[in-house]
Amino acid sequence: MRSQNCSSMALEKETNGQAWAELKSFNTFGVAARAERMLVVSSESDLPAVLQANAGPVRVLGGGSNILLTDDVEGLVLKNEIKGKKTVEKDEETVLVQIGGGEDWHEFVLWTLDEGLGGLENLSLIPGTVGAAPIQNIGAYGVEQCEAFERLTAIRLSDGRRDVFDKADCAFGYRDSIFKNGLKGQFLITHVFYRLTTRHHKIRTDYGAIRDRLAGWNIPRPTIRDVSRAVMDIRRRKLPDPNLMGNAGSFFKNPILPAEKVEKLRERFPDIVAYPAEPGFVKVPAGWLIDQCGWKGRRFGPVGCYEKQALVIVNYGGADGAEIWRHACRVMASVRETFGIELQPEVNVW
Ligand code: FAD
Ligand code: NAP
Repeated sequence: MRSQNCSSMALEKETNGQAWAELKSFNTFGVAARAERMLVVSSESDLPAVLQANAGPVRVLGGGSNILLTDDVEGLVLKNEIKGKKTVEKDEETVLVQIGGGEDWHEFVLWTLDEGLGGLENLSLIPGTVGAAPIQNIGAYGVEQCEAFERLTAIRLSDGRRDVFDKADCAFGYRDSIFKNGLKGQFLITHVFYRLTTRHHKIRTDYGAIRDRLAGWNIPRPTIRDVSRAVMDIRRRKLPDPNLMGNAGSFFKNPILPAEKVEKLRERFPDIVAYPAEPGFVKVPAGWLIDQCGWKGRRFGPVGCYEKQALVIVNYGGADGAEIWRHACRVMASVRETFGIELQPEVNVW
């Protein structure tokens, strides 16, 4: 095994005289693949030396809940386990918290609730790490992480230099940021800073499912904790638990389309679902499109579209990344043929 002169831990195993690390237990699809080298990074100060000593390609891994491994990974994989949560500023209404990029997102959200801090409760139970949250600007039930985001610190993979990105630098969009575009694969996010409310919390129950759940529990004036409980309850009933069934959540983004195009489609598909987006555009749920093409609950060997939400591609057991990708391509082709709509994967394909 190759050794690294830093406090981080190497996760490599000797295989045929070469060091390789198993990735199966590090991706929620449960796909078997290997990394040429893998290091757990638990401190930002380790990184410059590791990066300067490394010549080949580098990739960053968080909780592996938004990746599809289609092959073994060449080069170095850095598994982010930089921890720590602290309050760094306070005013009358808000606090600014600094969170290590390797912290578990949902545990962080639970911590905010214990501290009485509002802003992230709708994002309860999203798998993965804090450092990955800005990458696709995670969102759920009408809230995106960018609404509470203030800044992040990151290390440039090419030379180990430390950089700070404020909100405008990150170019956040719908499940999107500069880290999925112009700066894709160039940084490791070490810490994220969120500004959260200490009082006068903004309660967000615009999504019907949350409203219905709270009404069912007879809670007319919900607290941030009630909203979190409602979100967790809905998610546990509707989404497959990656510990029981391999998946990476929504495989595709919901397409944002010109309103005119959708009105034209409505002539042929009167039930087409559309939600308002930016002026002149609407968002069509990709799950609805996939469902209309007959994929919901349909299985091809070990792969299929989940029976309760067609947007989630599941590994029933033993599928490899190429089989999952072939299934994604089948789904994209049928949505293209039926609706003339090009679905874009949300999952990062490695
Ligand atoms: P990984 O899968 O490890 O990595 C994802 C990408 O980010 C990779 O390209 C990786 O290189 C990069 N990356 C990871 N960490 C860093 C870092 N510190 N610095 C730089 N780059 C990094 N997403 C939503 O938006 N909303 C949801 O409601 C939601 N629900 C989900 C439900 C389920 C059951 C599952 C399995 C997934 C869901 N997701 C959802 C997707 C996923 O949870 C998020 O995208 C999450 O932020 C991924 O975090 P991760 O640490 O697992 O990232
Ligand atoms: P859902 O409630 O069945 O709704 C289907 C889609 O319609 C969602 O994707 C959502 O878009 C949109 N939608 C529903 N109500 C809306 C409203 N009032 N205003 C605007 N858009 C609305 O969705 P679901 O699959 O159960 O997921 C619930 C939430 O969790 C969604 O926000 C979803 O994004 C999130 N989620 C994300 C992932 C992931 O991997 N990215 C996985 C599971 C759940 P949006 O997706 O834009 O919200």
